[in-house]
Amino acid sequence: MTKELKDQRFLVTGASRGIGKAIALDLAQHGAKVCMLATSLGNLEETGAAISAMGGEFLPMAGDITDPATAQAAVSAMVEAWGGVDGLVANAGITSDNLLLRMTPEQFQKVVDTNLNGSFHFLKAVTKPMMRQKAGRVVLIGSVVGTTGNPGQVNYCAAKAALHGMARSAALELGSRGITVNVVAPGFIQTDMTGELPEQARQAMITKIALGRPGNPEDIAGITRFLLGPSGGYVTGQVMLVDGGLSLG
Ligand code: NAP
Repeated sequence: MTKELKDQRFLVTGASRGIGKAIALDLAQHGAKVCMLATSLGNLEETGAAISAMGGEFLPMAGDITDPATAQAAVSAMVEAWGGVDGLVANAGITSDNLLLRMTPEQFQKVVDTNLNGSFHFLKAVTKPMMRQKAGRVVLIGSVVGTTGNPGQVNYCAAKAALHGMARSAALELGSRGITVNVVAPGFIQTDMTGELPEQARQAMITKIALGRPGNPEDIAGITRFLLGPSGGYVTGQVMLVDGGLSLG
């Protein structure tokens, strides 16, 4: 464990698996206290055990991010347990792919409700304590396809593109209060989300990546910590593509 983020208090949504789990572990590894959220407490057991093993402190929370009350409850729990919130990583997200002609309004709505509205609820909930502290760091996990588009993902790309705009606007509103808001936009990362892709589609995707390999969740955790940590204090309103060169075409 290093001391880079000693006693900093971070909230990470979707910390049970994939990118969110890697971010939570990385923050704890660098001395932070981490409030972790997933749909059930059982899903957070593995991440919690790993943080305990490294001597870290965490607060597990269960809930659905589409409910604003979930975000409020997590922030209130952090304020009660630790006295405030230094940073948010709004990471939890889903896909529900289909070609435009076959996509149902429900499929579109669910992805927007989760990926965009869910992140909005958490961004809004942390703003009050951060304004009081006159300091705070927010990272929203977007996606490279929010800038490039992707066939079969009109719902997901719409939500992620909107998330990028939300971050820029919030950065403008909150900068004078010492709060930074940025997006980390991953490319093709090996998690449960991309694990569902057929092997042929996976190989086709890899051929488009300049670095010639899919990313690991840890590739996203490092840049996220940079934006949350002491070196990232003068960066705000940015969308950082972390995609191994996928977006270069
Ligand atoms: P993942 O492995 O499928 O994990 C998703 C996480 O989100 C889980 O912890 C899940 O909790 C949580 N979650 C989903 N819906 C939720 C809800 N309604 N309420 C609370 N928690 C919820 O996904 P991932 O690949 O790590 O993706 C994480 C983020 O990165 C997402 O925003 C995704 O869009 C983005 N991203 C991923 C890739 C990629 O290639 N993987 C690329 C670009 C962007 P449970 O375990 O409880 O279900």
